[in-house]
Amino acid sequence: MNLKDQLKNDVRFVEGLKACINCGICTAVCPAAQFYDYDPRRIITTVQKGNEDEIRALLTGDTIWYCGECLSCKTRCPRDNTPGYVVQALRNLSIQSGLYTQSERGRQQIKVKRQVGDRMLAYGYCVYIDEIDTKEHPEQGPVWDWYRKNAQSILTRLGANYHGEGAGTLRRISDADMEELRNIFKETGAIKRFEHIEKACHE
Ligand code: SF4
Ligand code: SF4
Repeated sequence: MNLKDQLKNDVRFVEGLKACINCGICTAVCPAAQFYDYDPRRIITTVQKGNEDEIRALLTGDTIWYCGECLSCKTRCPRDNTPGYVVQALRNLSIQSGLYTQSERGRQQIKVKRQVGDRMLAYGYCVYIDEIDTKEHPEQGPVWDWYRKNAQSILTRLGANYHGEGAGTLRRISDADMEELRNIFKETGAIKRFEHIEKACHE
């Protein structure tokens, strides 16, 4: 199936693109367009034209990963389009097809999946002190290493229930709650997305 038809199977694409008149209002209100080489109007024009090579270029490039998914564009489009939804559909297809590995921004999905997604599935926390690889965060300097080394005493002073049973910050999440969380990931398609990310990745 060609890429345009695959996009049409995504409800976010159907909902996000009705008919674009190229007015550029979405780009004018888009916060990401202020900071990056990013133009939602151009993305919508490309997918509306339906040229396979141009859609492939979107899926293999950095552009689609600049959107902040704030949906400001949804509130202003005079034709009821939502470029943010179209970008979500493009990101999904980029991951499903493995094309996400061809851009630097796209490859960041691997880190997000492994450092946030996997932690949530294992512990119920998206950032888990015991598992942070501080070498991946040189921007933090020595702070996180110091924090990890002294975690037990710091968290006791803060009143956290670190690794403990029952209520409280950083408590151990019960087996029943973890099972429920994994079921949510499964039903919403997050597990499938994680599988697609790992399948195409050779790192
Ligand atoms: S605001 Fe709507 S109609 Fe205007 S360029 Fe953006 S998507 Fe197209
Ligand atoms: S959802 Fe994305 S494209 Fe739309 S305004 Fe926000 S950052 Fe821009």
